[in-house]
Amino acid sequence: MSDYDVDLFVIGGGSGGVRASRIAAQHGARVMLAEEYRVGGTCVIRGCVPKKLLVYASRFRAEFEDAAGFGWTLAQATFDWPTLIANKDQEIARLEAAYTATLGKAGVAIVKSRAVLRDAHTVQLANGEQVRAAYVLIATGGAPTYGDPIPGVEHAISSNEAFHLPQLPAHVVIQGGGYIAVEFAGIFAGLGSHVTLVYRGENILRGFDDDVRQHVRMDMEKHGIRVITGCKIAAIERSGSRFSVHLSSGNQITADCAMFATGRAPNVARMGLEEVGVEIAKNGGLAVDEYSRTSVANIYGIGDVTNRINLTPVAIREGAAFADTVFGGKSTAVDHTNVPTAVFSDPEVGAVGLTEAQARVRLSRTDIYRSMFKPLKATLSGRDTTVLLKLVVDGLTDRVVGCHIVGEGAAEMIQVATIAVKMGATKADFDATMALHPTTAEELVTMRQKSASYAREAAE
Ligand code: NDP
Repeated sequence: MSDYDVDLFVIGGGSGGVRASRIAAQHGARVMLAEEYRVGGTCVIRGCVPKKLLVYASRFRAEFEDAAGFGWTLAQATFDWPTLIANKDQEIARLEAAYTATLGKAGVAIVKSRAVLRDAHTVQLANGEQVRAAYVLIATGGAPTYGDPIPGVEHAISSNEAFHLPQLPAHVVIQGGGYIAVEFAGIFAGLGSHVTLVYRGENILRGFDDDVRQHVRMDMEKHGIRVITGCKIAAIERSGSRFSVHLSSGNQITADCAMFATGRAPNVARMGLEEVGVEIAKNGGLAVDEYSRTSVANIYGIGDVTNRINLTPVAIREGAAFADTVFGGKSTAVDHTNVPTAVFSDPEVGAVGLTEAQARVRLSRTDIYRSMFKPLKATLSGRDTTVLLKLVVDGLTDRVVGCHIVGEGAAEMIQVATIAVKMGATKADFDATMALHPTTAEELVTMRQKSASYAREAAE
């Protein structure tokens, strides 16, 4: 490797790239990392972390309202968006500095520059400097896409800009029905905006369990979010300081902000990838094997740029596995099964494993256990809300193959439930577990009555 300037050149300083760099350096590799924007990547700078901070902010409204039933009288609460954004920015700057310091301590050289491939072993920086590397890791993540070109799309923002709006919009129209659309609908509504969600399909959160989708939509609507389905934004026109948002249904909405949350695409363009022979998969991500190796032997790809499962913890695992495989002498493949996921919407969603619909196609026998109830807190608060917990069980082996939760604490609950699902726990194991009362999670171990049982349906 000494013929090279570095043993590893990492392009992209997000969660995956940072973890891979640090572990590779710990294995003794000479590592250089290039980041063109800010160290920390999407998750830290304009994704998971700032989003969760905004989610926390948005949830105070309900807490203030609920407090009355518990005897509290509060002065009229007011909210200041610039304060929230400034405090959030301060925390993000602190995290960026911490990530940078960690890399420095591990001996990773950081260059703040765009980097492109010139050949399989040569990376060129924006200033023209070239670095020769034995291995290259592409960890460039993804970026928001705006769907089909429509007139006035330039007026729409993505989640990137949503984190930096100068003021809270009075009325927001959000297009999309996935993670970002649903999460930001909850954020804006909680903070006091009037929110309209426009989704092209029949119901939001495609890919999640149908009961979850129905429940989330019902509760979002109860909380005042207007959900329009079977419809798209057809055009956006500026009218003064506001926008006229024209829908495919022919209707029109006047709003202060139009946000598109219509998916993200892997950052693969203009990087010299295809020129050096790196194959791009049909889904637009880098084609990689189980060890994250691309079609060029010394070039690897991890995280969202590979478009496998676009979640931070997955990118981190892929980064560590890459470093252990290439520099640690231990071939490590990441297990992409039973990855838990959460949507920090209002209400929150936590899910792992098969949905009911998937199980009915894949398993010869499927048992469903389902519980929907008013949480204890809502008895005194008077809040019109219910919690949903659902277990999908393999009727032949009794294994719990899916767990789906909607309601307060769903993400925290699903992380713990995933340990059991991953270990192959059976419904009998769940039932043998003592309940912890009074909690919402106890319902996971006290559901005795099947709500449905199915024999296999023919696959479509
Ligand atoms: P998603 O893929 O989750 O959702 C995209 C949404 O946009 C879907 O509802 C999709 O509809 C709709 N859509 C796509 N193209 C068009 C179009 N041309 N016109 C109208 N609607 C369209 O993407 P997001 O942008 O919400 O998030 C990107 C990814 O980031 C997520 O998939 C997830 O991996 C990650 N993420 C994870 C979070 C978490 O873990 N909590 C939070 C935020 C993001 P349809 O369903 O019909 O395809």
